[in-house]
Amino acid sequence: MRIERLRLRSFRNYEEADVRPAPGVTVLYGENAQGKTNLMEAVHLCCVGRSHRTSRDRELVRWGESEAYVQADVRRRDGVHQVGVALYPNEQKKKKITLNGDPIKRIGELMGQVNAVLFSPEDLRLVKDGPDGRRRFLDMEISQLQPAYFYALQRYARALNQRNGLLHELQLHRGDALFSTLEEWDAMLAQSGAVVLRKRAQYLAQLEEKAEEIHDALSGGREKLKLRYAGCDADEEGLVRLLRAAREEDCRRGFTSVGPHRDDYKIIINGKDARAFASQGQQRTAALSLKLAEIEVMREETNEAPVLLLDDVMSELDVSRRRMLLTRIGGVQTMITCTHLDDLGGAEYEKAISICEGKLNESVDKILRK
Ligand code: ATP
Ligand code: MG
Repeated sequence: MRIERLRLRSFRNYEEADVRPAPGVTVLYGENAQGKTNLMEAVHLCCVGRSHRTSRDRELVRWGESEAYVQADVRRRDGVHQVGVALYPNEQKKKKITLNGDPIKRIGELMGQVNAVLFSPEDLRLVKDGPDGRRRFLDMEISQLQPAYFYALQRYARALNQRNGLLHELQLHRGDALFSTLEEWDAMLAQSGAVVLRKRAQYLAQLEEKAEEIHDALSGGREKLKLRYAGCDADEEGLVRLLRAAREEDCRRGFTSVGPHRDDYKIIINGKDARAFASQGQQRTAALSLKLAEIEVMREETNEAPVLLLDDVMSELDVSRRRMLLTRIGGVQTMITCTHLDDLGGAEYEKAISICEGKLNESVDKILRK
């Protein structure tokens, strides 16, 4: 798939912008704080209906404005589609998402319309950092591929919120009535939680297959990469049992201590947990393998390559990893941000756009050949 046109109005530091990314590689370059990541964020918004940086939509509206609007024209195998997202600074006013001009009722309807894989410097720390980032990685990916997963996650988050609220009350005063309500929330949590667990296991197996092969190539055949889910291994009934077993402890602590919201997965290199034992370079290569595998899984599942967004990662990679990345992404529409064109290390691109204070300048529009 390919974004043919991206238009922004009052989005972040942009008053107006109209970009036509090239089918291949488009480079967006400029000094710090000029609006490069903001543009990536706008694409991400059209993919999943939210920012990758904040959960507060109002932050995306240009200061002093009453509405932000982002529109992406996407060419897919089944034709060109238009996704529009309008956001408001007032929290009472809900964002509006349209598909080919028609408002959608549930955000899940947006999933899969525009698929993108975003790769930023934080992703290079995927192996090293805590479980939150790794869970987010899984949740975002599976949601884009399967709206049913996204809906299950939403139901799970709502039930979790309610259960935690109740546990908090139970911390203060115990009562039989509260306990029976807890039972109800346990059932809700187990129902949606089991869907989440099942789909995560399926996705992780697909991801592992691709990542193993890519990592083998990136490491010159020296390293074998495996993924292992670390958390609940349970169906719906099993989750009910786990929640019940944790109930006393959860009441004491005032929150839910077991379930997919606490789970993690281990990245194993040559039989050892990479988070604990791999060197920084090995961890970064493993992160790169996972990101590239993500593209492959998406390509396989949707029969179409996603759009690749590389935000500031080129300067973070050494020459050989950079080359690996660029050779792997042939045929994928890619948007790369960097501060200087030199950061690309001589990589080919079709279009270069400079960004300065939220204004785009396409005057440097040329093709470099190696
Ligand atoms: P870097 O190279 O440091 O990553 P960048 O070009 O990616 O920089 P962005 O994160 O895209 O920078 O843009 C940041 C700029 O956008 C900042 O100057 C910030 O003040 C501005 N900004 C963020 N939100 C808003 C908003 N709601 N309204 C107006 N300006 C905003
Ligand atoms: Mg940035």
